[in-house]
Amino acid sequence: MGTIEQDDRGILVPCPSCGQKNRIPYERLAYRVRCGSCKQELSAPATPLEVGHTAAFDRLIARASIPVVVDYWAPWCGPCRTVAPEIVKVAARNAGRLLVVKVNTDALADVGQRFGIRSIPTLAVFAGGREIARTLGARPADDIEAFVREAVAESET
Ligand SMILES: [Zn+2]
Repeated sequence: MGTIEQDDRGILVPCPSCGQKNRIPYERLAYRVRCGSCKQELSAPATPLEVGHTAAFDRLIARASIPVVVDYWAPWCGPCRTVAPEIVKVAARNAGRLLVVKVNTDALADVGQRFGIRSIPTLAVFAGGREIARTLGARPADDIEAFVREAVAESET
């Protein structure tokens, strides 16, 4: 975690072949993107992305072309540490299909407040710019994936 940077417009991914930093716009997360410099194909983010600031979170939620799983957490929260490796698994297994992000509710208190996050860990799923489901407490990766699949399927009917 922590290897992927983001800004208001997208995710900044270093090219595995030439090292050039490329921005993948949030709208294009579901597509194959090539390095602007050497044309090597860039892989979709396969690790959770720690959201650095509120504006980036809002853009990401509004524009992401794939469902976004949000892990609301804080450094002092024990169950959050339990869920962290599960979230890593979910991100690795669903690269290009889901974007997994982490929101530190101490650092981004305004986001937590706006979405009414009262206990952590809370996992939420966003699709099409809105929250479609949330669940409280730690759970294993398989459960998280099932929860997300169900939420996305329901939102599409
Ligand atoms: Zn390159």
